[in-house]
Amino acid sequence: MGPATRFAPSPTGLLHRGHGFSALSAYQRAKELGGRFVLRIEDIDQTRCRPAFTDALLDDLAWLGLSWEQPVRIQSQHMADYHGALGRLRDLGLVYRCFKTRKEVADDIGRAPHGLGLAYRGAPLAAAEETARIEAGEPYAWRLSLDAAKAYLGEAYDRLSFTDELRGTVTAEPHLAGDVVLARKDLGVAYHLAVVVDDGLQEITDIVRGEDLFEATGIQRLLQALLGLPTPIYRHHPLLLGPDSKRLAKRDLAQTLQDLRRQGLTAQQLRAELGF
Ligand code: GLU
Repeated sequence: MGPATRFAPSPTGLLHRGHGFSALSAYQRAKELGGRFVLRIEDIDQTRCRPAFTDALLDDLAWLGLSWEQPVRIQSQHMADYHGALGRLRDLGLVYRCFKTRKEVADDIGRAPHGLGLAYRGAPLAAAEETARIEAGEPYAWRLSLDAAKAYLGEAYDRLSFTDELRGTVTAEPHLAGDVVLARKDLGVAYHLAVVVDDGLQEITDIVRGEDLFEATGIQRLLQALLGLPTPIYRHHPLLLGPDSKRLAKRDLAQTLQDLRRQGLTAQQLRAELGF
C-alpha cells in the first residue's frame, strides 16, 4: 500500500498546541513520502474517552487544514482484533494472568533489588491457585512475560532495534517497561497491544509522535516481533513546552486549539508558529 503515517489521539480532552504540532508533523511526513495519512481514534478506555472530544478533535484537525483517509478507525469498535492478538500471544505462552492490585504491583516494584528500575516483572501463579482464583470470580489482567518472550525469540531478543529518524538505530529496551499489561482487568485490552495491532493492520510505515512515547517503542518493537508484524520507522519529536517550561498537558486549557481559535488565531498563523 506504500508509505503511511498516522495521528492517533485519545479523546480524553481537547487537543492543544502540542497535539497540533504532532499531527502536522505526521501529516507533513506523509506528504513528503507521497503516502497516506491516517487518523485513528484511540478510545479503548471508555471510562475516560468522550464522543464530544472526538467531535472536537475532528473539527480542530480540519481547521488546521489536515485531511485523512476514510473511514477513520475507532479502536472501541475493533475489540475483536485485539482479543485475537492476545489469543495468539496466549497460545504461544507469552502472557500470564495477573490478579494483583495496583498497590501490590507498586509494593513488588519497591521491593525489587536496587537498580532494576521501576518496571514490574512477575510470573504466572501455580495452576491450582490460578484455577481457584478464576473460579472465585477474581478479576485479572494479562501481562506480557519478558522472560517468556526472551525464551521464544532467543538471541534475536537482544538484537531488537528500530530506526528513529532523529536518533539513528536504537536498541529496543523492553525491560525498561517490564511485564506490561496487554489486557486490563476492566477493559480486556490495553494501549500497547491495540497500538501495535492497528499500526500493523493499517500498514503504517512511519510513526511520528512525541518523545514521551519513546520508551513505549521498546515494548511495541518487541510486540511487533512476537506478532510477526513489520517495524515502522519512528520519529520521536521533542515535546512543546508551555509558558511555565513544563510540557503541555490536556489540562492546560489556555493552549487548546479551540481556545487559540477563539482568541482569533488563524490556522495559517498557528501553522507558521509551529514551523509549518
Ligand atoms: N493515543 C496515544 C496518545 O494519545 C498516542 C499513541 C501513539 O501515538 O502511539 O497519547
